Amino acid sequence: MKITDVQSIYVRPGEMRERTDSSQDALIIKITTDEGIIGYGEVDSLPLVTQAAVRAPFSHTLSSGLRDIVVGEDPFEYEKIWSKMYKSTLYAGREGAMIHAMAGIDLAIWDIIGKALKKPVYKLLGGGFKDKIRVYASAMFSFTPEETAERARSFVERGFTAVKFGWEPMGPDPKLDEALVKSIREAVGEDVEIMIDGGLAWDLKTAMDRVKRFEPYNIFWLEEPLMPNNLRGYKKLANSTSIRIAAGEEESTRTGFQRLMDEGDIDVIQVDLTRVGITEGKRIAYDAAQREILCINHTFTTDINTAASLHLLASIPNSIFLEYCVEESIVRNKVVANPIKIQDGFAHVPDGPGLGVEIDEKFVEEYCYNF
Ligand code: MG
Repeated sequence: MKITDVQSIYVRPGEMRERTDSSQDALIIKITTDEGIIGYGEVDSLPLVTQAAVRAPFSHTLSSGLRDIVVGEDPFEYEKIWSKMYKSTLYAGREGAMIHAMAGIDLAIWDIIGKALKKPVYKLLGGGFKDKIRVYASAMFSFTPEETAERARSFVERGFTAVKFGWEPMGPDPKLDEALVKSIREAVGEDVEIMIDGGLAWDLKTAMDRVKRFEPYNIFWLEEPLMPNNLRGYKKLANSTSIRIAAGEEESTRTGFQRLMDEGDIDVIQVDLTRVGITEGKRIAYDAAQREILCINHTFTTDINTAASLHLLASIPNSIFLEYCVEESIVRNKVVANPIKIQDGFAHVPDGPGLGVEIDEKFVEEYCYNF
């Protein structure tokens, strides 16, 4: 089988809200083959930059767009393709946007391999640790404790047994920060797990103050309290509190995750497959397993990402939750025609061939943004 084309399609609504909410738009990767099999992936990054990373024509041997590198390759040779993409983009790549674009291509390649073999991706990854995974509802904070509590209560009523809230307005005001956490705990009761996403809001000393304030509310983890390169801060914070410290959504490479675990001493890594890929994502998850560190997905885009994450989480021994985005956006709701269903707080791992998602081509075409 040969890859015949790689398209990067930016799907964007007419209006964008000014919030830290990446579910609003999506960059879809579509790979076609000479056998008629089509694979889909997704990239959660800065869409037009990753689109250019795919489309850019060859410049020289260490600086090429990804489409030119991948066309003509056999998708079953995914390790060779990854290595070739990495080497051919050394100047613009190695971390960040270029690796994100490579990750989207890698997802689409796994979708093709699964479709060709008529097997779900988790079977090809040696999975089967679990066929359903406990879900946490992942949302943005509302702007008051009362509104946040109301939303938390509504998630529990929908059957979720774990909830996460994050980002603004958490950050500058210690009293508001504590009131937000307290309001969630009071709304959901003692039996529901709570995660808090600090959204990179603090320096080390302020984060140490916040973990002390949050400890009485028994939160399962505190996510990204510090900027991603503050490894010294992560280590001091993680060793100062009983609360698990989680991070990783800013990382795109195995090296980055190893640094977070070994120098940052964090307790939970969060891998976004639309920034890392399945091929590298599995290696990262097993690096964590070896260190007895939990590996959870990061997902705040469409169910292409959710499905890919379920396949990986079913294939590793060190995952206990699926992050499931509950923010409503037309793009998130409509790109995938057969969305992942949540029942009684669990998501079933897709059993169809490939990633197991069908794309609404008409919707994608209608909302395609051309720059
Ligand atoms: Mg986060």
